[in-house]
Amino acid sequence: MERVFNFNPGPATLPLSVLEKAQKELLNYQGTGMSVIEVSHRSKEFEAIVNDAAALLKELLQMSDDYKVLFLQGGASTQFAMVPLNFLKEEETADYITTGIFGEKAYKEAVKIGSIHTAASTKDTNHDRIPTAAEINFSPSPSFVHITSNNTIFGTQWKDYSVFNNLNLVADMSSDILCGPLDVSRFALIYAGAQKNLGPAGVTVVIIRKDMLEKVPSNIPSMFRYDLHAENNSLYNTPPSFSIYMVKLVLEWLKEQGGLAKIKEFNENKAALVYEAIDQSNGFYRGHAQKEYRSTMNVTFRLPDEEMEKKFVTEAASHGLVNLKGHRSVGGIRTSIYNAMPFEGCEKLASFMKEFNKKN
Ligand SMILES: *Cc1c(COP(=O)(O)O)cnc(C)c1O
Repeated sequence: MERVFNFNPGPATLPLSVLEKAQKELLNYQGTGMSVIEVSHRSKEFEAIVNDAAALLKELLQMSDDYKVLFLQGGASTQFAMVPLNFLKEEETADYITTGIFGEKAYKEAVKIGSIHTAASTKDTNHDRIPTAAEINFSPSPSFVHITSNNTIFGTQWKDYSVFNNLNLVADMSSDILCGPLDVSRFALIYAGAQKNLGPAGVTVVIIRKDMLEKVPSNIPSMFRYDLHAENNSLYNTPPSFSIYMVKLVLEWLKEQGGLAKIKEFNENKAALVYEAIDQSNGFYRGHAQKEYRSTMNVTFRLPDEEMEKKFVTEAASHGLVNLKGHRSVGGIRTSIYNAMPFEGCEKLASFMKEFNKKN
């Protein structure tokens, strides 16, 4: 069977060479005579995987030693609770900027834990944009500010973080981590479920500025403590070992591609193909996101009516372009074109879009 171009938002497509490497190593990992799935998480082989993955992430993002990389479980959704549990003290307030459904979910968890101020929301225009600096009203001294860097469902993306100067910025980067170079020094904490841009489901990458570890209160359960996971180098309990191994392979692949500047260029070229097909369709395709906030990772658009959208999804699938149905809150089409989506996949999609437009 041939592989398709899979535009699923997550779990998402992985580089073929990564899957092949995992397949090749599956039965006998580096001469251990066992699969990496079966290896002890306390073995030197597995410890090397954790350390190599963290080192690759540091190298790709050119992070300083002020940051620690953690591999945790429970998905990005567990981070929604963990962030305020660790950083929001009783007398403090945290600021949330909600630019999509995941940001709203993060907010809903945080209000259970402490005092939260909504510094901005884009709900009034169905999250088709990122707020401007003038729209953001920070509280007097927030313990941290939470944002979602890329809105997977709506197809919008933050392009500039300068408005957060000197604040403890926490970002959910589940759907755009490593999509290009990033000045990590602007962030107190970054988290990302791996299943979009990093590897398989089951592991969440957390990048934490070390001084934040000192804020962790002693009365929260062990598994939710960043400091405990940091002290134990992500091996406090049995980690999702196979997922971490896969993340390591994806990071090696990113390095082979020439690093994040190259990846950014590649992603911009891929996204341009799809956006061009939208913009040149004379309104047949209508993009959801306002142009200046368009995501390079998730492209969302509508067709003239729902019947036509169904037809689009079905016909695309018959061309080997699958999982294009949009989220119910936007409707229409969503194409997720993360790092691992080949250029060829976007080319094929864009030419399908033009053809479909002509015929309908
Ligand atoms: C998918 C997604 C999540 C949810 O991740 P889980 O790992 O399923 O908990 C959270 N935030 C963003 C931005 C996402 O894209």
